[in-house]
Amino acid sequence: MTIGILKETGNENRVALLPGEVAVLKKMGIEVLVELHAGEKAFAADKDFQSAGAIVAERKEIISRAEVLLSINPPVEDEINSFREGQVLCSVLNPVENSSWLEKARLRGLSVLALDLVPRTTRAQSMDILSSMATVSGYKAVLDAASLLPRFFPMFMSAAGTIKPARVLILGAGVAGLQAIAIARKLGAIVEVFDVRSAVKEEVKSLGGKFIEVEGAKEDAQAGGYAVEQTEDFKKKQQELIQERAIAADVVIATAQIPGKKAPVLLLKETVNSMKPGSVIVDLAASTGGNCELTQNGKNIVVNGVNIIGKSDYPSDMPTDASKMFGCNVINLLKIMIDKDGKLVLNMQDDILNGTAAVHGKEYISQRVKQMLNIK
Ligand code: NAD
Repeated sequence: MTIGILKETGNENRVALLPGEVAVLKKMGIEVLVELHAGEKAFAADKDFQSAGAIVAERKEIISRAEVLLSINPPVEDEINSFREGQVLCSVLNPVENSSWLEKARLRGLSVLALDLVPRTTRAQSMDILSSMATVSGYKAVLDAASLLPRFFPMFMSAAGTIKPARVLILGAGVAGLQAIAIARKLGAIVEVFDVRSAVKEEVKSLGGKFIEVEGAKEDAQAGGYAVEQTEDFKKKQQELIQERAIAADVVIATAQIPGKKAPVLLLKETVNSMKPGSVIVDLAASTGGNCELTQNGKNIVVNGVNIIGKSDYPSDMPTDASKMFGCNVINLLKIMIDKDGKLVLNMQDDILNGTAAVHGKEYISQRVKQMLNIK
């Protein structure tokens, strides 16, 4: 079996597999082709891939030879016709944003495995790219905020007086939020946390954060552990309580998301206007609209002295470990697609592949993609 690693385009610094992960595939008897300069921005040179046993080649050759193509972001729409029927493409898809891309891929007969759709089950935990990348985002968001803040995070008692610890408010305690709590606590800050899922209360406490409860949150056992849209009454109550805590905070890390929907607006313009000048908001939900009403995706802005960082692509800023985690997750997924003779077998009865395959055999497969795209 032959696997091809494509070079990313645009501002992306990660690569789908690093040389260390290529060596793992080689041990499994798989031929690995890597596009020329694919790892450069993640500090992996072509010669490192070659030492790990990969063949470095031009994109055209990789596309024509590989049965499975790996990339972080899907290849551009114009390139779809250069892939052949039955070829497998694995990348982070964002099905709603890339619906026309996906339809073209379906008509072309490609099998598209959307790595962002790997089910959140115990068996699939080792393949969960979203969790890996959220870990990077939560970590980097806190460090970014700490470096921008004109104050210390930890408390200091020095000859020059006592410095109070910074107060950090975390909105959303999913994977990124929990990581942000852990890092902010390690840096010595006081951490307060909002979430709508009561299940996270204990996790927040065990990391040293204070969970602030808003009564009346709607939870749905059918939502697979994810949050659901809240009532107008709850939203209003929550926004008021968040405003009260944000005024006292030095840093807000916003991570709240509802899968397939616009991010909930939790920080209103009035809240930002009443925050301390010099304070920092890092909005990790920026690409889905932002948790802060003023967030601009991909931009750092200052409003009334408050820094608002609208950033959803932190993993690209930490390409070495982000690529390593990505590659480990992909290898674990590949392991359920390869039989004992080293041949590619896409068993759509397997719940992980069934949930991850956006299209296969010219059909839409994943129920979640069908729901997101309203396909009957
Ligand atoms: P996410 O990115 O979808 O959302 C981030 C957080 O925002 C969530 O905790 C969510 O409850 C919260 N949120 C949404 N709306 C909110 C609002 N109005 N106010 C405050 N908070 C709000 O979450 P995620 O990190 O992808 O994790 C989602 C779920 O998946 C969690 O239950 C997590 O434990 C679970 N999970 C399971 C596995 C596994 O079993 N393999 C792996 C990772 C995550």
